[in-house]
Order: sequence, then structure tokens, then C-alpha cells
Amino acid sequence: MASQVSNTESSHRCSLTELSKSNVFTSKLPPDPGFETPQASHKARRERLYPRTVKGAAFTFVRPETTEDPELLGVSPRALKDLGLKAGEENTALFKAVVAGNEFFWDEENGGVYPWAQCYGGWQFGSWAGQLGDGRAISLFESTNPSTNIRYEVQLKGAGRTPYSRFADGKAVLRSSIREYIVSEALNALGIPTTRALSLSLLPRARVLRERIEPGAIVCRFAESWLRFGTFDLPHSRGDRDMIRKLATYVAEDAFKGWEFLPGAVSLGQDQLDDSVEEPPRGLPRDLTQEHQGVEENRFARLYREIARRNARTVAAWQAYGFMNGVLNTDNTSIYGLSLDYGPFAFMDNFDPQYTPNHDDHMLRYSYKNQPSVIWWNLVRLGECLGELIGAGPQVDDETFVKQGVTEDAAPALIKRAETIIERTGDEYKTVFLNHYKHLMSRRLGLQTQKESDFQELFSELLDTLEALELDFNHFFRRLSSVPLAGLETEAGRKEVAPRFFHAEGHGGIGYSEDSARERIAKWLDKWRQRILEDWGSDAYADVKRQRSMRDVNPNFIPRGWILDEVIERVERRGDREILGRVMNMALNPFNEEWGLNKDEEERFCGDVPKFQRAMMCSCSS
Ligand code: AMP
Ligand code: MG
Repeated sequence: MASQVSNTESSHRCSLTELSKSNVFTSKLPPDPGFETPQASHKARRERLYPRTVKGAAFTFVRPETTEDPELLGVSPRALKDLGLKAGEENTALFKAVVAGNEFFWDEENGGVYPWAQCYGGWQFGSWAGQLGDGRAISLFESTNPSTNIRYEVQLKGAGRTPYSRFADGKAVLRSSIREYIVSEALNALGIPTTRALSLSLLPRARVLRERIEPGAIVCRFAESWLRFGTFDLPHSRGDRDMIRKLATYVAEDAFKGWEFLPGAVSLGQDQLDDSVEEPPRGLPRDLTQEHQGVEENRFARLYREIARRNARTVAAWQAYGFMNGVLNTDNTSIYGLSLDYGPFAFMDNFDPQYTPNHDDHMLRYSYKNQPSVIWWNLVRLGECLGELIGAGPQVDDETFVKQGVTEDAAPALIKRAETIIERTGDEYKTVFLNHYKHLMSRRLGLQTQKESDFQELFSELLDTLEALELDFNHFFRRLSSVPLAGLETEAGRKEVAPRFFHAEGHGGIGYSEDSARERIAKWLDKWRQRILEDWGSDAYADVKRQRSMRDVNPNFIPRGWILDEVIERVERRGDREILGRVMNMALNPFNEEWGLNKDEEERFCGDVPKFQRAMMCSCSS
């Protein structure tokens, strides 16, 4: 049976030429009026497509700049498969040319799909930044994988200037491209919604000026949708009502596959508000459900809720796995609920809720503990963009409203309704976030059921302990996954196990002696042990199963800052090409005990973080 499945799957995998290609985005949404057709853009000198203000458009047709002597440094085999491309396709000349921006699937005689850059704006660090857009990303085509029916938009990052490049060069440096290439695939392997990375190409001739001159690179990346909250912010700032309606309709019908797949408006019982299928149903508090029934919700309100719910789940996963994006501006927040645009991201080393990986984030706006509230702040901005559509209720399709907007008389009621829906969506966001966070944390701790008291006694107490003793967040879960319950029966046994969670040099807690540090962990282990016994019983075989299930959700490998720095150093300065493939393999299979390629290196990368490389920070320059 298993082999039949994989045969069917492999028979669907094809060459890049055979791969289905569509342009739904550019055919349904308005193009830049300066270059309305692919022909108009193609005829223009490349420089004419350089930065300017673009109005009334969702995108501009623009081709990648050609690159000299690109070298394909790596391909994600998982990405190849998910797109439906056959293994080995990466060795063809066409593949190498396409992912480096030297070929695309359009010509004047036969047409095809012409590349484009998206137009959007954004709120950056709490201030309105105006028009931004794909300043160095160019989408090549969309493709639907016939085995999964998932449609992806494939794009190149670092492919040259577009009308949205502002003062910058349209290029990406190798350093940040390596980081994005690996983390995209790592998050996906951890089950965290993310944009993906197919390949990494080095542009040895492109000398890119940042703080120093650096080699350039292109990541070929793909996502179900590249739309951002900022995509709505820009037309909202310009009063372009028509564009907002078009974009919202596109999101519902094309990104989310139809209005009927959005949360239901009528019966807001448990099935709509329940977090995800794998979890036991959990409804909202009764008063909230009743409130829902009092306000008429139209399809745009349901769309807004869907976007909020998706983002709630994604942030919950970031919090549960200690991931930080580092720059959660609205232009980096995905309508589809994907982790997006990797700049100064990081995984948590020692647990510290104040930590931000962004060197320039002095206010800690994008720190670990602020991520859930900052995404909600972004969702309120999105609610303002959609406010008119949400607030119009059943009148949303009335001809006069569509053409002229709300009348003065009707405005107060519209505003009130929009505010109520946004506020209520805030409650829903919190509920979905908490449910998913608890679900993931319970799983990480090996629990099969959830108890009201777990949050305080297990989750919070664990995080406080890790913070107080300066212990590594992700290592704790992985190491706990191999602790047999049998060794935790006595206080002495628990204190014996406790130093497993210490760093090589011990714990770092201020005011703690070796003994009091052990005691604090032992106390937590006792509570945890009792919960595991409740869920799994005391059978030794069940405990082996419990350990295995924990290792399946607690990664042994995560691409931490210090590892990525070493990879960058080895690729860029020492011409090492093999390291990238090995680290990608680890990122794609993060729960493995070993990978069988380089034992010492694997142990080092999964082991203690070198003391002076913990909680590293990155600048935004990339
Ligand atoms: P980011 O901070 O990377 O999310 O980028 C914010 C905005 O700046 C986006 O519109 C990017 O497309 C644009 N941008 C960043 N770096 C460059 C670059 N080197 N060339 C052109 N545009 C860029
Ligand atoms: Mg961005």
C-alpha cells in the first residue's frame, strides 16, 4: 500500500517544463497602468522599471535582471517534491537558469506567464511607511501540484530592481539568503506555517554593497500566497475602495479557495471556533457566542476572521517553539498566516521573554513576549482597511454602496458594526491562540490530555524556571523527551536528573547554588511526572512510547544563529559546498537522533550553544 502511494506520487512529479504554470494573480488583479501588458513591460528598457510611485495597481510586470555565472549552491529535496518536480530536475540547465533569473516562461510569439512584482505598503515599527512593494522579489509563475492540489506562487528574491525598490539595489546578499533558505525549510519541517525555499544560487559576479562588499545570491522561494497585510494598507491609505474589494475577493476566492471555506457566520457553535481538527473541540465562552449571533456578519467579516485565526495559530506555534521573526511590520505579516520574510529572525536559546533578535529593535517591539500582541496590532490595522466592507453588513453589495461608499446617515451604524466585529475577532484571536499554544505545549511535554491547572503549574512554572536558571528552551524539551519516568520517583532521583538540563558549564541562575538549582528543577519534574502518570499510566512500555512521541515533536536540531553563522562563514570564506546540504538535511529532519553524515558535526550542532554565541542579534541589512 505504502509503495503504491509513493508510486502515484512520483508519477505526478515532472520536469520544470512540464510543470503546470498559471497567472491567476496577474489576470484577476489590476496591473501597473504604466505597463499594462507583458509586451509593454518587455519592450521597455530595464531602467524604466526602476523605482517610482505606482497607483491603482496590485503589481507591475517586470522581468528579473540577468545574472552572470550563477552557481546553484543547494536545493531542498522536500521543496522539489512539494512543488511536484522530479528528483534530479535541479541538475538541468533550464532549472539552474530559471532559479537564477536567467529564464522565464514567456516569449513574444507564444505568450506564457510573465513575471511580476507585487505592490504593497506597510506600517513599520508602528509608523506608516507608505509604498513599499516587492523591491527585490519577482514572481515567476504559479503552479498547482496535482497530487496535493496546492497552488504555489514561485518567486525569486534578489532578482534585481523593480518599481518598488525605493533607494535600494534589488539584490540580496549570500549571508541573508543562506539564512532564509534554511529557516524556511526548517520551520516547515517543524510544522510551522511558512513560505518555502526551493533553491539557493550564488551570484559570484554580483558585488553587493552593504557594510562591506559581499557576494549576491538568489533564493527561489514559494508560498500559497505572498499577500501581506501591507497589501491592504496601501490602497486604504489612498482611499482606493475598489482595490480593497478586489483584493479581499481574490484572497477569499483564490488564496483560500472560496467563501464557503471561511468560518461560518450563522451557527457559531463549537465547530467554527474550535481550533483545529486534531484537537478536542473547545468553544468560546457562552457570552461571546451569544454576542456573535446579535451582529450580522457578511462574507468580508468572515474573511477577516479567517485571517485572524490563521495568524493566531502561527504565532502560537512561534511561541511554543521559541521562534522570533524579528521584524513583524505589516508588510511582513502574511494574509495566509505564513511566517514570512526572514531578516533578523532567531530561535530562543536561553529562555528570555524580553529577547529580540533584531539589533535595531530598541523598544523590544518585536521581542518574544510581544509577538502575539504585535500581530493583533497588525490585525487591527487590517480591520481598519476592511472596516467599510465588514461594517456594511448585508448592504455590502448594494449598488450605491459599492460605487459611492457609505452615506453620512448610515456611517455611525457602519462604524459601530465594524468596531464590534473587530473587537470580537480580538477575542476569537486570543481563544484560537491560547488553544493552539496549549495544544502544542501539552504535546511538547508529552501530555495526552489537558487540565486547567497545567497552564499555571506546568507551563508557567517551567518557563519561570528556565528563565531564572538561564537554561536553553528547546534543549529542555528534547532532553526531557529521553528522561525515563522510573528515575523520577524519589527526590534524590529527580535531583540526579536535573543537571541534564544544565549547560556544559552548569546553570547560570543568579542567586542559585548548584543544589538549589537542582531542587527547583526537581520540584517541577515531580509535578510533570504526576501528570504523565495520569495520562500514560505506570507501565514501562507506555513510558517508552511516551518518550518516542515526545521526540517526534521536540526537535533535536534547530538552525540557531551560531550555526547559521558558521555555515555562512564556511560557504562564503572557505568555499565549503557540502555543509549546506548537510545542514539542510538536518533542518528537513529535525527530530532525528542522528543523520549519519558527520557525527561530530551533528553532535556539535545539536549540543550546547557556545557560551558567547547565545542570544545573538542581527541587523536588518540584508
Ligand atoms: P524588509 O525589511 O526586508 O521586509 O523590506 C522592506 C521593504 O524594503 C520591502 O519593500 C523590500 O522589498 C524592500 N527592500 C529591502 N531590501 C531591498 C533591496 N536590497 N533592494 C530593494 N528593495 C529592498
Ligand atoms: Mg519584507
